[in-house]
Amino acid sequence: SKRPYRWKRVLLKVSGEALAGNHTENIDPKITMAIAREVASVTKLGVEVAIVVGGGNIFRGASWAGCSGLDRSSADYIGMLATVMNAIFLQATMESIGIPTRVQTAFRMSEVAEPYIRRRAVRHLEKGRVVIFAAGTGNPFFTTDTAAALRCAEINAEVVLKATNVDGVYDADPRHNPNARLLETVSYHEVTTRDLSVMDMTAITLCQENNIPIVVFNLQKTGNIAKAIVGEKVGTFIGC
Ligand code: UDP
Repeated sequence: SKRPYRWKRVLLKVSGEALAGNHTENIDPKITMAIAREVASVTKLGVEVAIVVGGGNIFRGASWAGCSGLDRSSADYIGMLATVMNAIFLQATMESIGIPTRVQTAFRMSEVAEPYIRRRAVRHLEKGRVVIFAAGTGNPFFTTDTAAALRCAEINAEVVLKATNVDGVYDADPRHNPNARLLETVSYHEVTTRDLSVMDMTAITLCQENNIPIVVFNLQKTGNIAKAIVGEKVGTFIGC
Protein backbone atom coordinates (compact mmCIF):
# COMPACT_ATOMS: atom_id res chain seq x y z
CA SER A 1 0.00 0.00 0.00
CA LYS A 2 1.85 3.03 -1.33
CA ARG A 3 1.06 6.56 -0.43
CA PRO A 4 0.69 8.74 -3.51
CA TYR A 5 4.15 10.30 -3.34
CA ARG A 6 7.78 9.62 -3.26
CA TRP A 7 10.05 12.07 -1.51
CA LYS A 8 13.11 13.57 -3.19
CA ARG A 9 14.48 15.42 -0.18
CA VAL A 10 13.54 14.53 3.38
CA LEU A 11 14.31 15.74 6.88
CA LEU A 12 14.66 12.78 9.22
CA LYS A 13 14.28 13.60 12.91
CA VAL A 14 15.89 11.09 15.25
CA SER A 15 15.25 11.71 18.92
CA GLY A 16 17.86 10.97 21.54
CA GLU A 17 15.53 8.47 23.14
CA ALA A 18 15.33 6.53 19.88
CA LEU A 19 19.14 6.34 19.74
CA ALA A 20 19.31 4.92 23.24
CA GLY A 21 16.98 1.98 22.56
CA ASN A 22 17.12 -0.38 25.53
CA HIS A 23 20.85 0.04 25.90
CA THR A 24 22.23 0.90 29.33
CA GLU A 25 24.62 3.44 27.80
CA ASN A 26 23.25 6.59 26.20
CA ILE A 27 23.58 5.26 22.67
CA ASP A 28 22.93 1.81 21.26
CA PRO A 29 25.45 1.24 18.45
CA LYS A 30 23.12 -1.35 16.93
CA ILE A 31 20.51 1.37 16.45
CA THR A 32 22.90 3.91 14.95
CA MET A 33 24.13 1.18 12.57
CA ALA A 34 20.56 0.28 11.62
CA ILE A 35 19.86 3.95 10.88
CA ALA A 36 23.04 4.21 8.82
CA ARG A 37 22.19 1.13 6.76
CA GLU A 38 18.66 2.23 6.02
CA VAL A 39 19.73 5.74 5.12
CA ALA A 40 22.38 4.20 2.83
CA SER A 41 19.73 2.13 1.07
CA VAL A 42 17.66 5.19 0.21
CA THR A 43 20.48 7.54 -0.73
CA LYS A 44 21.38 4.86 -3.31
CA LEU A 45 17.93 5.47 -4.81
CA GLY A 46 18.78 9.15 -5.10
CA VAL A 47 16.76 10.44 -2.15
CA GLU A 48 18.46 13.36 -0.41
CA VAL A 49 18.54 12.91 3.35
CA ALA A 50 19.11 15.54 6.03
CA ILE A 51 18.94 14.54 9.68
CA VAL A 52 18.22 16.46 12.87
CA VAL A 53 19.30 14.62 16.00
CA GLY A 54 17.90 15.13 19.47
CA GLY A 55 19.77 14.92 22.74
CA GLY A 56 17.26 13.66 25.26
CA ASN A 57 19.22 10.44 25.81
CA ILE A 58 21.98 12.52 27.38
CA PHE A 59 20.49 15.75 28.66
CA ARG A 60 17.16 17.53 28.57
CA GLY A 61 17.33 21.18 29.51
CA ALA A 62 13.78 21.58 30.78
CA SER A 63 14.04 18.71 33.26
CA TRP A 64 17.31 19.99 34.71
CA ALA A 65 16.35 23.66 34.89
CA GLY A 66 15.50 24.60 38.42
CA CYS A 67 17.62 21.82 39.94
CA SER A 68 20.81 22.89 41.68
CA GLY A 69 20.41 26.48 40.59
CA LEU A 70 20.67 25.84 36.85
CA ASP A 71 18.86 28.48 34.85
CA ARG A 72 16.95 27.30 31.80
CA SER A 73 19.26 28.85 29.23
CA SER A 74 22.38 27.22 30.69
CA ALA A 75 20.59 23.89 30.90
CA ASP A 76 19.48 24.22 27.29
CA TYR A 77 23.03 24.95 26.10
CA ILE A 78 24.10 21.68 27.73
CA GLY A 79 21.18 19.98 25.97
CA MET A 80 22.28 21.40 22.62
CA LEU A 81 25.84 20.16 23.23
CA ALA A 82 24.36 16.72 23.89
CA THR A 83 22.89 16.69 20.38
CA VAL A 84 26.37 17.35 18.99
CA MET A 85 27.66 14.18 20.67
CA ASN A 86 24.87 12.17 19.07
CA ALA A 87 25.54 13.80 15.71
CA ILE A 88 29.26 12.95 15.75
CA PHE A 89 28.45 9.38 16.77
CA LEU A 90 25.96 9.02 13.95
CA GLN A 91 28.33 10.61 11.44
CA ALA A 92 31.15 8.25 12.39
CA THR A 93 28.79 5.29 12.08
CA MET A 94 27.56 6.38 8.65
CA GLU A 95 31.08 6.98 7.38
CA SER A 96 32.17 3.56 8.66
CA ILE A 97 29.89 2.05 6.04
CA GLY A 98 30.89 4.51 3.35
CA ILE A 99 28.16 7.15 3.44
CA PRO A 100 29.69 10.61 3.01
CA THR A 101 28.24 12.66 5.88
CA ARG A 102 28.66 16.21 7.12
CA VAL A 103 27.69 17.58 10.50
CA GLN A 104 26.64 21.22 10.71
CA THR A 105 26.16 22.87 14.09
CA ALA A 106 23.79 25.72 14.86
CA PHE A 107 26.57 27.44 16.83
CA ARG A 108 30.22 27.39 15.92
CA MET A 109 32.46 24.49 16.94
CA SER A 110 34.53 24.63 13.81
CA GLU A 111 37.23 22.19 14.97
CA VAL A 112 34.54 19.56 15.33
CA ALA A 113 32.01 20.25 12.61
CA GLU A 114 30.99 22.77 9.97
CA PRO A 115 28.89 25.72 11.06
CA TYR A 116 25.35 25.73 9.69
CA ILE A 117 25.39 27.38 6.28
CA ARG A 118 22.15 26.84 4.44
CA ARG A 119 23.48 26.97 0.89
CA ARG A 120 26.35 24.70 1.79
CA ALA A 121 23.99 22.18 3.35
CA VAL A 122 21.91 22.14 0.18
CA ARG A 123 25.03 21.69 -1.92
CA HIS A 124 26.08 18.67 0.20
CA LEU A 125 22.65 17.14 -0.31
CA GLU A 126 22.80 17.71 -4.07
CA LYS A 127 26.12 15.89 -4.09
CA GLY A 128 24.53 12.92 -2.36
CA ARG A 129 26.01 13.55 1.08
CA VAL A 130 23.95 13.14 4.21
CA VAL A 131 23.84 16.27 6.34
CA ILE A 132 23.30 16.02 10.08
CA PHE A 133 22.14 19.21 11.75
CA ALA A 134 23.30 19.43 15.35
CA ALA A 135 22.81 21.82 18.28
CA GLY A 136 19.11 22.25 17.55
CA THR A 137 18.16 25.75 16.53
CA GLY A 138 21.06 27.18 18.51
CA ASN A 139 18.60 28.88 20.86
CA PRO A 140 17.53 27.93 24.37
CA PHE A 141 13.79 27.40 24.95
CA PHE A 142 13.43 25.48 21.69
CA THR A 143 13.45 21.78 20.89
CA THR A 144 15.06 19.66 18.25
CA ASP A 145 11.57 18.99 16.83
CA THR A 146 11.35 22.70 16.16
CA ALA A 147 14.86 22.56 14.68
CA ALA A 148 13.63 19.76 12.40
CA ALA A 149 10.68 21.83 11.19
CA LEU A 150 12.90 24.90 10.73
CA ARG A 151 15.68 23.15 8.82
CA CYS A 152 13.10 21.30 6.72
CA ALA A 153 11.59 24.61 5.63
CA GLU A 154 14.98 26.23 5.08
CA ILE A 155 16.42 23.54 2.81
CA ASN A 156 13.11 22.98 0.99
CA ALA A 157 12.80 19.39 2.13
CA GLU A 158 9.35 17.96 1.45
CA VAL A 159 8.56 16.21 4.70
CA VAL A 160 9.60 15.76 8.33
CA LEU A 161 9.98 12.06 9.09
CA LYS A 162 9.83 11.73 12.85
CA ALA A 163 11.41 8.48 14.03
CA THR A 164 10.16 7.48 17.49
CA ASN A 165 9.81 4.46 19.76
CA VAL A 166 6.06 4.14 19.11
CA ASP A 167 4.16 3.11 15.98
CA GLY A 168 2.69 6.55 15.35
CA VAL A 169 0.04 8.86 16.73
CA TYR A 170 -2.74 7.33 18.84
CA ASP A 171 -6.13 8.75 19.76
CA ALA A 172 -5.27 8.11 23.43
CA ASP A 173 -2.15 7.17 25.39
CA PRO A 174 -1.53 3.49 24.52
CA ARG A 175 0.42 2.96 27.75
CA HIS A 176 -2.64 3.81 29.84
CA ASN A 177 -5.54 3.01 27.55
CA PRO A 178 -5.75 -0.48 26.02
CA ASN A 179 -8.36 0.76 23.52
CA ALA A 180 -6.08 3.44 22.08
CA ARG A 181 -6.15 3.33 18.28
CA LEU A 182 -3.30 4.14 15.93
CA LEU A 183 -4.33 6.96 13.59
CA GLU A 184 -3.40 6.57 9.92
CA THR A 185 -3.90 10.20 8.99
CA VAL A 186 -4.51 13.23 11.18
CA SER A 187 -4.71 16.96 10.53
CA TYR A 188 -2.52 19.60 12.16
CA HIS A 189 -5.70 21.03 13.65
CA GLU A 190 -6.58 17.74 15.33
CA VAL A 191 -3.07 17.33 16.66
CA THR A 192 -3.21 20.69 18.38
CA THR A 193 -6.84 20.75 19.51
CA ARG A 194 -7.00 17.13 20.70
CA ASP A 195 -3.63 17.56 22.37
CA LEU A 196 -2.20 14.46 20.67
CA SER A 197 1.37 14.55 21.90
CA VAL A 198 3.37 14.40 18.69
CA MET A 199 5.63 17.43 18.85
CA ASP A 200 5.60 20.66 20.79
CA MET A 201 3.29 23.43 19.59
CA THR A 202 6.10 25.51 18.13
CA ALA A 203 7.22 22.66 15.90
CA ILE A 204 3.70 21.70 14.78
CA THR A 205 2.64 25.23 13.90
CA LEU A 206 5.88 25.85 12.01
CA CYS A 207 5.12 22.77 9.89
CA GLN A 208 1.51 23.81 9.44
CA GLU A 209 2.35 27.36 8.38
CA ASN A 210 4.76 26.03 5.78
CA ASN A 211 2.62 23.10 4.59
CA ILE A 212 5.20 20.57 5.69
CA PRO A 213 3.67 17.14 6.29
CA ILE A 214 4.98 14.99 9.14
CA VAL A 215 5.21 11.21 9.20
CA VAL A 216 5.54 9.73 12.70
CA PHE A 217 6.82 6.16 12.70
CA ASN A 218 8.56 3.51 14.78
CA LEU A 219 12.32 3.41 14.41
CA GLN A 220 12.64 0.07 16.21
CA LYS A 221 11.06 -1.85 13.33
CA THR A 222 13.59 -2.77 10.70
CA GLY A 223 12.87 -1.27 7.31
CA ASN A 224 10.63 1.52 8.59
CA ILE A 225 13.05 4.35 7.91
CA ALA A 226 13.50 3.21 4.34
CA LYS A 227 9.74 2.73 3.94
CA ALA A 228 9.01 6.20 5.29
CA ILE A 229 11.59 7.74 2.99
CA VAL A 230 10.35 6.09 -0.19
CA GLY A 231 6.79 7.08 0.72
CA GLU A 232 5.40 3.70 1.70
CA LYS A 233 2.60 3.71 4.20
CA VAL A 234 4.09 3.60 7.69
CA GLY A 235 3.02 5.15 10.99
CA THR A 236 0.85 8.26 11.01
CA PHE A 237 0.68 10.94 8.34
CA ILE A 238 0.03 14.48 9.57
CA GLY A 239 -1.00 17.11 7.05
CA CYS A 240 -3.84 19.36 5.83
N1 UDP B 1 17.70 22.38 22.90
C1 UDP B 1 17.63 23.76 22.89
N2 UDP B 1 17.33 24.41 21.72
C2 UDP B 1 17.07 23.76 20.56
C3 UDP B 1 17.11 22.34 20.58
C4 UDP B 1 17.43 21.68 21.75
O1 UDP B 1 17.85 24.39 23.90
O2 UDP B 1 16.83 24.40 19.53
C5 UDP B 1 18.11 21.67 24.14
C6 UDP B 1 17.00 21.47 25.15
O3 UDP B 1 17.55 21.59 26.44
C7 UDP B 1 16.59 20.03 24.90
C8 UDP B 1 17.91 19.38 24.57
O4 UDP B 1 18.60 20.37 23.82
O5 UDP B 1 16.00 19.45 26.04
C9 UDP B 1 17.82 18.10 23.77
O6 UDP B 1 16.94 18.25 22.68
P1 UDP B 1 15.51 17.53 22.64
O7 UDP B 1 14.94 17.45 24.01
O8 UDP B 1 14.69 18.20 21.59
O9 UDP B 1 15.94 16.09 22.15
P2 UDP B 1 15.03 14.78 21.86
O10 UDP B 1 13.79 14.87 22.70
O11 UDP B 1 14.71 14.81 20.42
O12 UDP B 1 15.94 13.65 22.21
